[in-house]
Order: sequence, then C-alpha cells, then structure tokens
Amino acid sequence: MTKRIHNFSAGPAALPLSVLEQVQRELLDFQGTGMSIMEMSHRGKVYEAVHNEAIADIKKLLGLGDEHAVLFMGGGGRTQFAVLAMNLLHPGTFAEYANTGTWAETAYKEGKKLGDAREIWSSAKDKHTHVPQPGDLDGKINGQAAYFHYTSNNTIYGTEWQHIPNAGKVPLVCDMSSDFLSRPVEATRFGVIYAGAQKNVGPAGVTVVIVRKDLLARSRPELPDLFSWAKIEKENSLLNTPPAFNIYVVGLVAKDLLAHGGLNAMTEHNKKKAELLYKAIDGSSGFYRPHAKANSRSLMNVTYRLPSEELEEKFASEAKKASMEGLKGHRSVGGIRASIYNAVSYESVQTLVSFMEEFKKKNG
Ligand code: PMP
Repeated sequence: MTKRIHNFSAGPAALPLSVLEQVQRELLDFQGTGMSIMEMSHRGKVYEAVHNEAIADIKKLLGLGDEHAVLFMGGGGRTQFAVLAMNLLHPGTFAEYANTGTWAETAYKEGKKLGDAREIWSSAKDKHTHVPQPGDLDGKINGQAAYFHYTSNNTIYGTEWQHIPNAGKVPLVCDMSSDFLSRPVEATRFGVIYAGAQKNVGPAGVTVVIVRKDLLARSRPELPDLFSWAKIEKENSLLNTPPAFNIYVVGLVAKDLLAHGGLNAMTEHNKKKAELLYKAIDGSSGFYRPHAKANSRSLMNVTYRLPSEELEEKFASEAKKASMEGLKGHRSVGGIRASIYNAVSYESVQTLVSFMEEFKKKNG
C-alpha cells in the first residue's frame, strides 16, 4: 500500500486520490497513443480534446456561458496581479482594491506599479481578522473605476468573503486562488476571476483566468502577446505551449467534481469539515484561539494560536509525527493553519480534531 498522510498543506495541497490514480494509470500510454500526455504535441487532436474539455467542464461547474472565456496561463496567481493591471488599468483610469491580507495587498501593490491603483478598504490595522460584511462597501466603490479587486479567500489569515460585493456597473475582479471551485458562486457577476491551480484544482504552474469577453477589448494591442488576455483568448490559450500536463490534471479534477455532485455537494463537504474544526477550537476553553472573527471564517484555511509559540512548535512537530502534514502557520503570522481544501477528507479533519483534544489534555 502506498503511504498517504493527512495533508493540511496550504498549497501545493492535497489532490483527490482517484485523480492521482488516474494520472498514474494514464501516465505512460495516454488513450492508446503510446505517449504520455507530457510527451505529445499541444497542437494534436488528442491534447486539444483534453484542453477543450477542461474549459467546458470549468464552465459547466460555474454555470458560465458564451459571455465569459476561460483561459489557462502560466506564472501562478501573482503574475495575474500584474497582468490584470496591464490589461485593464490604463493611463487616465483608476482601479480600486480591498486589502484583506497579504495577497490582496500584493495585488494592489503590483497594480500600483503599473497604474493608478487605490486601496479603498483595509483590515490591516486589525491584523486582517475580518473581511467586509454585506453593506460595508456600499457607497465606497467609485462608479468610474476600471475595476474593483478583492481576494475571496485570504489563505494566510484564514478569512473568506461570504458574499459577493455589489460594485454596480464596475467590473468585479476576484482572486479566487484559494477557494476556487470550493463552493457555488454566481460567476456571471464577475468581470474577471483568476486562480492559481495549486490549492483546489491541480498542480502549481497553471492559472485559470476567467474573463468576461467584452473586457477583452480593453487589452492594449502594444502589450507583449503572452500578457494579453485578448491574444490568449483568440488562440484558445494555445498561443504558445501551454502547461499541458497541469491543464490535463485540472480537467480531471473538474470531471471528478462534476461526477460527485458539483459545487453544491462540494460546499456541503467543506462546511462539514470546517464546522468540525471550528467547533473543536471554540470548545477548547481558550486553549486554541481562532485568528478570524466568526463572521469572516474561512472554510478553506483554519488559523489559530496556542498559548505560546513553543506549544505551537510542539503541536506542529507532534502532528507531523502522527502523519499530519503542513499545519505550521504562514511564516508572516505564525500559529497553526489547517488547510482543508476540497480534496482533504472528513476523516483527516477528524484525525486532527482528536489530536487537538489529546494535545490539549497533555499540555493545557
Ligand atoms: N493569491 C492567493 C489568494 C494565494 O493564496 C496565493 C498563494 N498562496 C497567491 C495569490 C500567489 O499565488 P502563486 O504562488 O501561484 O503566484
């Protein structure tokens, strides 16, 4: 039996076992071609079918029609911070950003290097313990903005927006890197959604970028080809050699989601896991202290502190010995972070919760 641990890593993160097994089965001879998917031309019919199915399945999961294009790009989530501004933030215009954590702030700073990016909301003073609640941004988003950018799930702080902000006619742009395809979302309301694959949907190295087609006209012709959403869309993300293997895995994950009830079923699974874990934290008489305020808690990254940094170290290292990986909080905030993305099982969370109870008994 292959050893598989309880994987609470923040990303790259757990992938569905059935998908990994399918990859393994198909690795040497893909669909009778005698080649691996990694070894074949991205211009051939076999790969093209994989590519197009992945796009179609993502659209199906999100209920998207012809109004939106699904692109695959390299460079991770961070590249899109800049690519977004290159495509939509032109001289004489401005864009607005909500700063709800490290990635949100980095997106804003990258935007600022390239144009007039403005921060209109920040939880920095409050150590990013919460995100805006419905109504908090009312009247704050300028109707003339080129776009409004936010980060739906703050991977490092463990906070997550529970609503889609109302930006009126201003295009909504969302970095969904760490909660993409984890819950149903009214995707048609967005101008742009982007997500690095390595949390919920595949291996690092491909980013899914969803763009409302009317916005493509704003991509400036003088942009380098590979930074232009319009040019990439025109070539169906085959302008250059795409990260074909990664796209193949993303496609398998999408198929797996569709086969298991889509995003409604996935959100139920994710809620159950998060409830179990937050209950353990809340019921610990203050031994485990949650970072996020209750109204902003993430279903993907659950962040908490212990009474001392020494205990946190001990917790993470003992958990590792008990086959639980990736629990150490991000270096910028410390503490413990349990990432419980789609592919993390309920049993893994049960194992963690039992460990937490034991650990508290011994160290509390
Ligand atoms: N946005 C969010 C929400 C993230 O969690 C991350 C990575 N943890 C990034 C962007 C940066 O992604 P990448 O490393 O793929 O550039």
